[in-house]
Amino acid sequence: MSGGFLVQAEPVLLMGLIEACRATIAANSDHLCALDRAIGDGDHGTNMRRGCDAVSADEASVSALPLPDALEKIGLMLVMNIGGAAGPLYGTLLMALGRELRTLDDDRDFPTVLKQAIDAVARRGRSHAGDKTLLDVLYPVQDALAHCSPLTDIARQAEHCAELTAAMKAMRGRASYLGDRSIGHVDPGASSCALLTTAICRYLEEHRPA
Ligand code: ADP
Ligand code: MG
Repeated sequence: MSGGFLVQAEPVLLMGLIEACRATIAANSDHLCALDRAIGDGDHGTNMRRGCDAVSADEASVSALPLPDALEKIGLMLVMNIGGAAGPLYGTLLMALGRELRTLDDDRDFPTVLKQAIDAVARRGRSHAGDKTLLDVLYPVQDALAHCSPLTDIARQAEHCAELTAAMKAMRGRASYLGDRSIGHVDPGASSCALLTTAICRYLEEHRPA
């Protein structure tokens, strides 16, 4: 699946995706805070929840916009409402995705555009794959998408990659202050990213056009 049908998303599809993301973050907010308490300051769940709630409150007007505009607006809302380190990073992902989608053509499919948006996150965070961040889920998800993996496999891969961050030493963000003591704990941002990926994949699978 190249993600082509996502690019032509109907407002109702986008509203459903926003709700699916909000619901999974709300259900897992305490867990994300617990992960962040171990290697950060314990606020990742509440930060993500605040961001998702803000987008949900505006979901009808956002979903009525053309998809690139909608994604850019959601990105801005995430920057303003998640706060912390994760806000600008998730915000950059959505804003860059919206911007890049405008230039989608025959030579650049959805996985290529997603790669460019993830690279923008890496530049914003001055971080790389292997630094124990949300990038350790985003890059493998993009790779799976580029290889046309089924949605259920992409979700499973995201969860697996989040778990793999436990073995990594944090090189960026608050967790990096712990040095070797960050090893043995799952990164909260990688975990929220896997939860969101799973929610999106599940929703798209259930609402796949006939
Ligand atoms: P804060 O660290 O400001 O409290 P959050 O707790 O909301 O912000 O988010 C922490 C998460 O943000 C981390 O688990 C990590 O995945 C991600 N993160 C932090 N700094 C960076 C960075 N420089 N590059 C990429 N991701 C980062
Ligand atoms: Mg935190």
